[in-house]
Amino acid sequence: MTHFKGQIFSKLPHAGTSIFAVMSKMAADHQAVNLSQGFPDFPVSTQLIDLVHHYMKMGFNQYAPMPGVDRLRQAIAFKMKSAYGVDYSPELEITITAGATQALYTAISAFVKESDEVIIFEPAYDSYAPAVKANGGLVKYVKLLSPDFEIDWAAVKMMVSNRTKMIIINSPHNPTGSLLKESDLQQLEALTRNSDIIVMSDEVYEHIVFDGYSHHSVCRLPGLVERSLVVGSFGKTFHATGWKTGFIVGPEELIAEFRKHHQFVVFASNTPVQYALADFLEKSENYNSLSEFYQQKRDFFVEGLTASRFHPIPCHGTYFQLLDYSAISDETEMIFAERLVKEHGIAVIPVSAFYHNQENQHLIRVCFAKTEETLSKAIELLCKV
Ligand code: PMP
Ligand code: GLN
Repeated sequence: MTHFKGQIFSKLPHAGTSIFAVMSKMAADHQAVNLSQGFPDFPVSTQLIDLVHHYMKMGFNQYAPMPGVDRLRQAIAFKMKSAYGVDYSPELEITITAGATQALYTAISAFVKESDEVIIFEPAYDSYAPAVKANGGLVKYVKLLSPDFEIDWAAVKMMVSNRTKMIIINSPHNPTGSLLKESDLQQLEALTRNSDIIVMSDEVYEHIVFDGYSHHSVCRLPGLVERSLVVGSFGKTFHATGWKTGFIVGPEELIAEFRKHHQFVVFASNTPVQYALADFLEKSENYNSLSEFYQQKRDFFVEGLTASRFHPIPCHGTYFQLLDYSAISDETEMIFAERLVKEHGIAVIPVSAFYHNQENQHLIRVCFAKTEETLSKAIELLCKV
């Protein structure tokens, strides 16, 4: 062990280790079924793996162009056009990133300065607020309204000030599985009209939407597309979270500013993976079947839990399901989650981890991106709680 003897003035004095790392480690330590961190336990398409192998053997192993492999940017432009009817220039408006996490962090550090305010809706994915704080920004939290986790637009309106630099939205929503409606986007459009506010739209679950609903991307609204950065993740769409490849799209001016930072954060992301993804993304059936695939898993899981004392909260997208355990215990979410790992052999995420003040509502989040075998085992364990 070595020790730094000086004083560290932390830019994130209150940050602990991410709940996803904590719970996955706890699951491994106790050999528990891991429904905590969001990742699939089934394999990536062999065709996609063969493509990566192919491009590696072909010698595509050196730095990719800084904004990303051209063919992948073109495939994303094509997808954005066919899915949402919007033209993005592959050359100027699309950048490939090392996962959505890097896109989010880099975008926040590109635009948020000391004392700028950023509006975040809670429960919120854990990477937004630390990125704002590390850059000197101030986080303004707005709570999503129970029971459906909807945006309280009157509260947002009150929160907007002349220091508001950015509003971060996420739909389909992690952890609640709620979706933004077209009317929500219209409210956001009206609220930001004639302002310099940048909208960051985390749409990593864009292709995982259930029950006949559709995903409403910010890029479909003229008043939003001109101020929005849209973030996506191939890890989520192609079951390859460990490949850490994602993208960001937005207006030319915003992407130019983004790239100033991106080039000094990672310069570029993984080359052979980008070539392989370009080929794979060209076939829309590779992502258009995702909703049906995951809806079947959600239904199997929720159906299995009818024999349990957990109460599922309706989930219309993502691969997460919230469960209310108030019929079982009064414990805080963290204590209850720890007990589930240690005594019942199953790891989940306490939803309090998505609130800055660790709000407790007797809710846990489970990931159902798992094989039927894993889900059956999980159902068996949860029914005994
Ligand atoms: N945003 C949300 C809402 C997420 O759930 C995740 C986790 N995948 C990310 C961003 C980060 O995605 P990536 O793994 O591509 O960095
Ligand atoms: N997005 C994943 C989740 O919500 C985890 C990502 C991570 O581990 N940072 O569980």
